[in-house]
Amino acid sequence: MSVDPPTGSASGRATVSPLMAATVKRVHYFGDGHAEGAGLGKEILGGKGSGLAEMTALGIPVPPGFTIETSVCLDYLRTGNLDGVRPEVEEALARVERSTGRKFGDASNPLLVSVRSGARSSMPGMMDTILNLGLTRAAMAGLAASAGERFALDCRRRFLQMYSGIVLEIPREEFEEFLTRRREEKGAKFDSELSAEDLRWVVDRYEEVVRRRGASFPDDPREQLWGAIGAVFRSWNNPRAKEYRRLYRIPEEWGTAVNVQAMVFGNRGERSATGVAFTRDPATGEKKFYGEFLANAQGEDVVAGIRTPHPLAADGSGKSLEETMPAAYAELVRVRDLVEKSFRDMQDLEFTIEEGRVYLLQTRNGKRTGFAAVRVATDMVAEGLISEKEAVLRVEPEQLVQLLAPVFPAKEKEAAVQGGRLLARGLPAGPGAACGRIAFTADRAVEMARKGDPVVLVRVETSPEDSAGMHAAVGILTTRGGITSHASVVARGMGKTCVVGAGEITVDERRHELRARNLTAKEGDFLSVDGTAGDVLLGQLPTQPSEVLRVLVDGTLPPEKSPLFASFQRLLEWADGSRRLGVRANADTPTDARVARLFGAEGIGLCRTEHMFFGENRIVAVRQMIVADSEADRRKALAKLLPMQREDFIGIFREMGERPVTIRLLDPPLHEFLPHEDAAVKKTAEELGITAEKLRERVRSLAEANPMLGHRGCRLGITYPEIYETQVRAIFEAAAAVRREGLRPSPEVMIPLVGTKGEFDRLKIMVDETARLVAGETGDAVPYRVGTMIEIPRAALRAAEIAANCDFFSFGTNDLTQMTYGYSRDDAASFLPAYIELGILPDDPFGTIDQPGVGELVSIATERGRAAKPGLKVGVCGEHGGDPRSITFFHGAGLDYVSCSPFRVAVARLAAAHAALSKETAASSTA
Ligand code: ADP
Ligand code: MG
Ligand code: MG
Repeated sequence: MSVDPPTGSASGRATVSPLMAATVKRVHYFGDGHAEGAGLGKEILGGKGSGLAEMTALGIPVPPGFTIETSVCLDYLRTGNLDGVRPEVEEALARVERSTGRKFGDASNPLLVSVRSGARSSMPGMMDTILNLGLTRAAMAGLAASAGERFALDCRRRFLQMYSGIVLEIPREEFEEFLTRRREEKGAKFDSELSAEDLRWVVDRYEEVVRRRGASFPDDPREQLWGAIGAVFRSWNNPRAKEYRRLYRIPEEWGTAVNVQAMVFGNRGERSATGVAFTRDPATGEKKFYGEFLANAQGEDVVAGIRTPHPLAADGSGKSLEETMPAAYAELVRVRDLVEKSFRDMQDLEFTIEEGRVYLLQTRNGKRTGFAAVRVATDMVAEGLISEKEAVLRVEPEQLVQLLAPVFPAKEKEAAVQGGRLLARGLPAGPGAACGRIAFTADRAVEMARKGDPVVLVRVETSPEDSAGMHAAVGILTTRGGITSHASVVARGMGKTCVVGAGEITVDERRHELRARNLTAKEGDFLSVDGTAGDVLLGQLPTQPSEVLRVLVDGTLPPEKSPLFASFQRLLEWADGSRRLGVRANADTPTDARVARLFGAEGIGLCRTEHMFFGENRIVAVRQMIVADSEADRRKALAKLLPMQREDFIGIFREMGERPVTIRLLDPPLHEFLPHEDAAVKKTAEELGITAEKLRERVRSLAEANPMLGHRGCRLGITYPEIYETQVRAIFEAAAAVRREGLRPSPEVMIPLVGTKGEFDRLKIMVDETARLVAGETGDAVPYRVGTMIEIPRAALRAAEIAANCDFFSFGTNDLTQMTYGYSRDDAASFLPAYIELGILPDDPFGTIDQPGVGELVSIATERGRAAKPGLKVGVCGEHGGDPRSITFFHGAGLDYVSCSPFRVAVARLAAAHAALSKETAASSTA
């Protein structure tokens, strides 16, 4: 989504009193190269209004109109009254009449207008727009006389349906039914094939529907206008719009503007058309003019997938705009260059051609895939359009995930195609490869995903009601619609794999199956969707790493062959230049460490040693250690583990060089290492050379009622000091070994689950002691740090005394969240979704940090810790370390670094830059 500049008040000028309304302008005219609202921005005019004003001021042909600003929406929703803006609206309407030479409601030469919603940030299709307003019975006669009867009837039937749906709240389907029936009777495929007589019949039926509903359709143009303005304002609060705002975190108090604009007609014959265009390719970011149009059509026809639209640029089909209306195409190209220069971002344009003349109806920053976002941002820097910092802010951190998303390996895919599994070829609308079980409705998709199945949502076309299902799915497939359809736009925004317009597929909703090319698939069957190529295949296909991973990690693609990789690296380098927060990775093995380093991790923030204990040849020694009866036996088993642990650390130190490596000593309770099922107990007992009874006895004695709060973390290190001693010895011996190779490792020993100063101090002494012993043996004193995880609320509160002997804190925010809320993370799934639905919690606190609660503990511990120990290093190693919103908080809390999974390092680098840069812009705009 686009980044809005911060503003002083979220509601713009919402507090203007009705008395003052006369003196403060709230209705802004645009037309004839002049726009009163130019420069006022999206907060006041909404995105659409602002775009119309700016385009008008640039001299781009825009039908005249006016914008009623967002503050009026908020007043209206509160008071239900629009009287305050009536004089201004009348005045602006009179200017539109003068500009067009037509009169609103006139019988001979009527001015028709559209009444369009337009919030600050675009909410595609969420709110309402009414076209052809002012088309009263009297005006019908005038329009028919000047422009033809068929055309007038086409406008009237659209107006009846839209106005009735939006203002009178009569469901769309009640009208649609008649149009469909007439088409079928006439054997017509498209509405455009219906005659004037057919449309007359349809219009009569529509009027009947309204009467039957007991509603009265106003025939007074002003009544129509005010009814529409009120309804569009109210559409801010329709359930779809509310749901959309919840998903995209758009504040309720923004409100929408209303734009009233003179109609231009793309449905006025074959020299007229309507279309949409992107100034660059929204899938790849390539600089080419990209879009679709439909001749003799109006408004949404092109995105509704009614007919298949044609491309703008010549493609040899003879049907492109460039080939059929070259002058109009040339004008659009001129506009494209103007808007890109002026808005300095890729634009998504709506246009209409009326009898050869081009009009622009909308411009906004185009939604794009992660690939396109990275490419457009870096290209625009090269073109001198934007600065490096702006480029960094143009890419949402989460979008980078798409560049790492898997693809289907070419060989396997080819084999599947050869094997006759290709169901259909559609339009590539959201990149990546996805494989999942078929669901035909959004509700089923949500249900199936809840059970843990990957789901591909298959629809004829999607609408805003499908949002939840689209979220739940790994891939989306529609049989209708183009690259600008609802499904495409939304999938791109979500970063979902998506194929649209796969017209060969027939969806049989009743039988829950789909058919194409003699193949049939039922609900629950596997489908493989290639959103980069547009292919849909039956059955499961394996996936392979993305282009970036092949260059960076696998080395199977040379960097010079991947412009995408070059852009990716460049953007992240710019991000590094802007961020203050360090970024480390959580890595337990040399392989993870390598990936982390390749993604730019500046160190390891969490190396969990318990994972090393599960290795095949180690688990026996670990179990011997656990079942040992005496310290001596325990030490014997540990002695077997020591060289293995040492090798692990050597591998990691070699990968990381002098970058810091934080190693956490053993954390989980010991029973996690023992078998629990009877057969496994018997087998293990044999391996250990003890009786099954004895092992069972040990398992029983280690069982705990609340393992999460039991004998784990530093509590183990205190009661079995030899375990931690062995681990620490392995760390220092490993460090000494790589120092002999000429490397300069920076080990950081981290004590988990500390709640009291006593715990930490006691173990700190042990670490120092062991370090001294090893130094004596190797003759080399390794520099090191000792610190603790802060994951128990008490430790956060008593941070000052704990910090006294400590070199660093690392917040283990998973445990800290569990313990602060008292929610077991493993059990929270039974109530957390309900809490979020009911609004008791705004978010899953395990996904994004709870700033007021857990965040306050982070702030308290940081302040108290640093006050007691200046220079204390403070980081985060919980999963929140890879969540952009949490990262913004950690930046603000003054932490030194975040640590996340290796594959999220790029996201974290970018998010940290965003945090720093948006603070910078906020500071400079209030200064
Ligand atoms: P949305 O926000 O859903 O895109 P719009 O307000 O942009 O809704 O309008 C819906 C469709 O109607 C768009 O295709 C738009 O270009 C078209 N449209 C809106 N106003 C006019 C107008 N004055 N003349 C011709 N077409 C219009
Ligand atoms: Mg639009
Ligand atoms: Mg923990």
